[in-house]
Formats: sequence, C-alpha cells, structure tokens
Amino acid sequence: MRKRLFSLLAAAAVAAAGLTAATAVATPAPASAASCYEWSSTLSRGDSGAAVKELQIRVAGWVSSGEHLAIDGQYGPATEAAVKRFQSGYGLAADGVAGSQTFGKIYDLTSSDCTPSHFSYSEFDDNCGANNFSGGAVSASTAKENTRRVMWQLEAMRHKLGDQPIGISSGIRSYSCNSSVGGSSSSRHLYGDAADMGIGGNVHSQCTLYRAAWEAGFTEILGPGYPGHNDHVHVANDPSPFRSAPNC
Ligand SMILES: [Zn+2]
Repeated sequence: MRKRLFSLLAAAAVAAAGLTAATAVATPAPASAASCYEWSSTLSRGDSGAAVKELQIRVAGWVSSGEHLAIDGQYGPATEAAVKRFQSGYGLAADGVAGSQTFGKIYDLTSSDCTPSHFSYSEFDDNCGANNFSGGAVSASTAKENTRRVMWQLEAMRHKLGDQPIGISSGIRSYSCNSSVGGSSSSRHLYGDAADMGIGGNVHSQCTLYRAAWEAGFTEILGPGYPGHNDHVHVANDPSPFRSAPNC
C-alpha cells in the first residue's frame, strides 16, 4: 500500500514537472532571436548562454586545424581563440572579446534571410526537387538549423580562400532522395549537416576545398580518391570524425 502511494506521488511529481517544462517551452523567444540574432552586450571568456551559442555558430569556421567548436553556449578558450581568428581574418583588433566591432562584422555578413551573405537555403534544400528540409533523420526545422551552422562554417572557408564563390551541389536529403542518389544509409545529408562541393561548380581544386574544410571545423571530410567522391568534396559535422582523400 505504502509502495503504491509512493508510485502515485511520483507520478504526480512527474506530471507536475512535465507541466512546468511545457510552460517553459511555450515562452516566446525575443523577436530578434527568432529571426536574425542581435547581441545586446559584449561577450568574453567566462560568459555563457544563448548569446554565446549564437556567436559560436558564427565563428565555428575559425577553429584551428582539425578542431570542431562545440556549440554549447560556454565562452571558453576554444571560443575565445575562434573569435580572435575571426577578428584577425576580417582585419579587426584580435582581442578575443566579442564587442561592437565583431558583432558589426557579423551583421555585415548576414543577409536578410538570416543566413551568411554568400550562401542561401535554396542552395541546400534541393532534396531531389522537393525544395524543403523534410523527410530526413531529423525534423525539417532541425535540418534547417543544422544547415545554417554549416553555412557559417562555409562562409569562413570562403573568406579564407580569397572570397571566391563556393558552389554547393547537395545539402539536405530525405531518406528516399538519399537512396535514389546512392547515398550511404547513415549519410549526414539526412541530418542537414552535410554539404557537397561539386567539381564543376567551383573555382578551387577539390584538394584545396578538402584541406580548407579541415580548417573550418568540419569533422567529416571526404574527397578525391575516397570511394564515390572523385567528383565532389563532402563536408559534414558528424559526431564521429572521419576524413579521407587519398588523392590529395
Ligand atoms: Zn555528401
């Protein structure tokens, strides 16, 4: 009897917790965070929260070789170093503190649809003609957000390679799209955190793109000589890092 009462109380506690969580989720985000983010104060090492997370997304392509910046909202040494490289890359004073100059440069680099200026969702959402982010391994909104993060890494890569255009030949894929193009059954394209750069749509050589991706925080990079990758370089933010391009 005592045990059953405890179970009932536990169930009530779980229900109450669920109610609280639901209420918290329903709280509307500020308008600026819902579309293009606007920072309200300077950020530096030791800071944390959503503002740091949005900053991390935009400097994730400015890591050191082979590093991947965790988008965790914690302004630690890796974030500080990435901010310094971003600042230096755009000719700003490289102090590792994100203030008005750094945010101003980020705003300059942001286009009206809130993506980095030299990339747009339409380059990634072909999805075998569906023109959406649906049908993959995650929700369309998650796939779109994953793509936004990839785009900022590519924006960094593009700038480091002398501001020459980078052409995208494939982004998000639904399961049916992925299988129709012969993608791996565990392809990161199903998550929207992958991008292919085709040999025909790029001024840079495939090996140049392959090497640049290693400096832009991508964890999965496949290129010339890797099976199925002689006509494009594939980059992704796979939780299990792997890269290969035997011909580079
Ligand atoms: Zn790919």
